[in-house]
Amino acid sequence: MGRIYNFSAGPAVLPEEVLAEAAAEMLDYQGCGMSVMEMSHRSAAFKGIIETAEQDLRDLMGIPDNYRVLFLQGGASTQFAMIPMNLMTKHKAADYIVSGSWSKKAFKEAQLFGDARCVASSEDGNFSYVPDVDAIEFSADADYVYICQNETIYGTLYHKLPETGDVPLVADVSSCFLSAPVNVADYGLIYGGAQKNIGPAGVTIVIVRDDLIGEPLPGTPTMLRYDTHAKNGSLYNTPPAYGIYVCGKVFQWLKANGGLEAQLERNEKKAKLLYDYLDSSKLFKATARKEDRSIMNVPFVTGSDELDAKFVAEAKLVGLESIKGHRSVGGMRASIYNAMPYEGVKKLVEFMEQFEKENA
Ligand code: PMP
Repeated sequence: MGRIYNFSAGPAVLPEEVLAEAAAEMLDYQGCGMSVMEMSHRSAAFKGIIETAEQDLRDLMGIPDNYRVLFLQGGASTQFAMIPMNLMTKHKAADYIVSGSWSKKAFKEAQLFGDARCVASSEDGNFSYVPDVDAIEFSADADYVYICQNETIYGTLYHKLPETGDVPLVADVSSCFLSAPVNVADYGLIYGGAQKNIGPAGVTIVIVRDDLIGEPLPGTPTMLRYDTHAKNGSLYNTPPAYGIYVCGKVFQWLKANGGLEAQLERNEKKAKLLYDYLDSSKLFKATARKEDRSIMNVPFVTGSDELDAKFVAEAKLVGLESIKGHRSVGGMRASIYNAMPYEGVKKLVEFMEQFEKENA
């Protein structure tokens, strides 16, 4: 049984080299005589793992010294609450751009804690586009402006960030983390779940500017305070230790393969192959607006639910796995994260061409 091409939106494909290394170290991590899964998070060996992981992430993203890196649990969804609890503290207000299901969920959650306002939405177009950020009037009294930079379900990406002046920009980058170089200083807070581009499920990474880690809203539980984790180097309690170890290996894999510039080039090449075919196809159609297309998640449809289902079933038979669209929208979605090889996308396109011929 060989490996298939896994187009899942997350948990998702990881680099084979990383999996092989983790497998080789499973029984005895570097002479420790035990697996990383079994060792104390207070051990010298784990200290080395988490510190190296943080440094490698800092190197990859060029994270300035006045930003903290936190390795947390609870998934990206817990951040929907942690962000307002910790940041919506001065004016008790924040501006949200709603460009898909994930930003909508974050917006709803923030309303539990203060005056969360939706300043723009693309729901009228079934989230097939990103609202024009230049046309948005942000509130001067907002504690932050919130975006989901890559909407995983609808396959849209902000190719231009909103200019928010002195108001910090908060971005959910779960599905585009480390897919391209980034200027961290453009943001007050960047966060994402690891299970798409970075590692196994169970790790959430938060990169937050020092001055935004203040006194949270009254009643904020200890575990949901950024300062708890910042003061303790993400070791206030037991962190998702094995997950952090795998994330660290992915960071090293990215560094060894030319960093984020080189990764972007590979991602663009893969996305172009798929979108070029979709644009020329008479059967398949990409659903996101062209200018806003994601290079990570590519949703597409045939226009017939029956044919969509047939495609998904037949794709599975030839080793193209998890290509079904999100249960809320149907159709197909190919998630082509960092670790998806070019050959995987090529095989998908060839299969689509053949399917189109057979079903024209
Ligand atoms: N934000 C985005 C952009 C996502 O794609 C997802 C999960 N698919 C989430 C948030 C929620 O992540 P989690 O399941 O880790 O809570």
